[in-house]
Amino acid sequence: MSDKLIVVTGAGGFIGGNLVASLRKKGFANVRAVDVKPLEHWYQKFDDVENLSLDLNEKENCEIAAEGGADIYNLAANMGGMGFIEKNKALCMLSVLINTHMLMAARKYGVERFFYASSACVYNGDLQHTVDDGDRFTAPALKESDAYPALAEDGYGWEKLFSERMCRHYMEDFGLYARVARFHNVYGPWGTWFGGREKAPAAICRKVIEAKLSGKHEIEIWGTGHQTRSFMYIDDCVKGVYSIMNSNILEPINLGSSEAVSINQLVDIVEGIAGIKLQRNYDLGAPKGVNGRNSDNALIQKYLGWEPSISLRDGLEKTYAWILEQYQLRESGAAGVVREADFVGQ
Ligand code: NAD
Repeated sequence: MSDKLIVVTGAGGFIGGNLVASLRKKGFANVRAVDVKPLEHWYQKFDDVENLSLDLNEKENCEIAAEGGADIYNLAANMGGMGFIEKNKALCMLSVLINTHMLMAARKYGVERFFYASSACVYNGDLQHTVDDGDRFTAPALKESDAYPALAEDGYGWEKLFSERMCRHYMEDFGLYARVARFHNVYGPWGTWFGGREKAPAAICRKVIEAKLSGKHEIEIWGTGHQTRSFMYIDDCVKGVYSIMNSNILEPINLGSSEAVSINQLVDIVEGIAGIKLQRNYDLGAPKGVNGRNSDNALIQKYLGWEPSISLRDGLEKTYAWILEQYQLRESGAAGVVREADFVGQ
């Protein structure tokens, strides 16, 4: 399709790895994949891609990553689910070095387009409460303007909001065209599924698998289970990232599913897939994040006439099957198991 050089950072991780896979399928023959992890620990790695293991906190390494690039997708960040970001705020904020140095390098080498992976964690926490409608709990759909006045998730969310603005000012002051998407919880195959950085869908799939295989039919749920979220399947995420990068959308935009569910409903779905019912034990002291959040997709519909639409049930079926396979590989001591990023934030 094109031999222009496409750079993907965070390519050894979940979304970056899936993005590289999809760019190859689209016919991009010249892709550079970059991640701090040693190559043998990348979740997905492709031999026909230039794979570089570099710490992008360092400015010089960002220059190596960016040189010659036409488009840069910056997905590298030190991150994880609530269990990680609530306990590692300084490490999360240090990702500001990655995006800052990548923007500087992109400007230096005259990169055409820059993509920044922001997050729904930029939204004002006061707007994120679950509403009890009697027999069900609903969450407010957050529209892009709800990020201000700012009261982002402490640590991780503030870094994302600051980096969004850095992109904006690089565009206004230096003419570097940046696209910024606010991802709402992404899940799917090749995502972290154990070790402390995993997010709710993967954690619940793993816990249900553990309960089923061990015969101990119980599950621990963080919080009351009434917290609501929307979850976007990885294929929708990768499609949205590519579409936004190749659009003229020059303002931060939601990229998320608008199918909100409570954590209890998420467990219901995974139990249904596994064909099991578990006793639920609620850990009210565990990290649980904001109470309720959903993605308002009016803006992405306006620009692209599209929004993420893969149903949670369909996405979870594929994710459950993949985690079950990974679980069995790990139990048998086989190679090829996706492990968490132990290599960042040292
Ligand atoms: P991930 O942890 O699987 O991938 C991030 C990758 O960045 C990792 O492989 C990690 O090794 C790499 N990295 C960290 N520090 C680095 C450094 N100093 N130099 C080079 N590489 C470094 O996470 P992901 O889910 O694939 O997230 C990708 C991006 O999307 C991140 O910016 C994240 O903040 C954002 N995001 C993700 C979600 C989600 O639900 N997964 C939600 C909102 C935003």
